[in-house]
Amino acid sequence: MIIVMSQHASEDELMRVVEFVEERGLRTHISRGRQKTIVGVIGDKTNLQKEQLRVLPGVEDVVSIMKPYKLVSREFHPEDTVVEVNGIPIGGGQPVVIAGPCSVESEKQIVEVAQAVKERGAHLLRGGAYKPRTSPYSFQGLGEEGLRLLKKAKEETGLGIVTEVLEPNDVPLVAEYADMLQIGARNMQNYQLLKAVGKCQKPVLLKRGMSATLTEFLLSAEYILSEGNKQVVLCERGIRTFVDYSRNTLDLNIVPMVKQVSHLPIIVDPSHGTGRRDLVAAMAVAGIAAGADGLIIEVHTHPEMSWSDADQTLSPDEFELLMKRVNSLVEWQRNYDPINYSID
Ligand code: PEP
Ligand code: MN
Repeated sequence: MIIVMSQHASEDELMRVVEFVEERGLRTHISRGRQKTIVGVIGDKTNLQKEQLRVLPGVEDVVSIMKPYKLVSREFHPEDTVVEVNGIPIGGGQPVVIAGPCSVESEKQIVEVAQAVKERGAHLLRGGAYKPRTSPYSFQGLGEEGLRLLKKAKEETGLGIVTEVLEPNDVPLVAEYADMLQIGARNMQNYQLLKAVGKCQKPVLLKRGMSATLTEFLLSAEYILSEGNKQVVLCERGIRTFVDYSRNTLDLNIVPMVKQVSHLPIIVDPSHGTGRRDLVAAMAVAGIAAGADGLIIEVHTHPEMSWSDADQTLSPDEFELLMKRVNSLVEWQRNYDPINYSID
């Protein structure tokens, strides 16, 4: 349920509404928009009638949220959320590029890749220290040593670190090193892990599960927000379909759809979304054109030697071309005036 305050409601009237709700054992969430202030109500509403709220001074309307997700819904929080990672705002209008190798392999590798992507305009560094691998025989990541190497790459370049956490018990350790905690596609419905990152105050990059619906995806984000962590960025990384030419199918429909129903930023991962180096740049541009708030791209100074996901990893030169294409689109979008725009 949301309580919409009238434009002229005073701070006292707002506080009285909050008190009224909380006295009945429910939680509130205030969202101060440019036009209006909204009070979101969370909890069991048996002892709270809309009619009681409607007559309180300063209340304009009381509306039920019909969707199963509440805190992540745009009704609850009409303004776009901006998540800041190492001083970089995600969702603020300027697309953010996270780039780096699939896995951290050595100090030389991660520092070289970090320098290469930074020079070409990346805003944040990715790199897995804990890897969720389909096969138990594949490289599983360097673990804590990988985290230390990421820290070294940050010291060398200033780029903030985005890295995956696989288990609830590892959250405090990974959070010590990371600027943003990634929840991988395979863990999107690992509810204990979602609760654990929800309790910590680090931004979270939540990747969509490979067969997750929009509702399931947003309910996973709801788990994190409901534990108190509001800094969540969604990531479309491709879903399983019947196509046989790419690893996954990048579902770009979800980008404008998420924008309609949620206030959370969403970025696109064309590396896992295609699984093919030759398709990554085109789908990166497509993601930004669809309205994504950023990209996450796998890059390696020797892509063919990557210890994981070699087939989809770009070289620095390929990444440079991708950045040029993305930047020219961003430039075009900046100059594009929807009112005066005409095709002739
Ligand atoms: C990754 O980012 O390297 C990764 C494992 O991604 P996903 O969880 O989307 O497969
Ligand atoms: Mn990968």
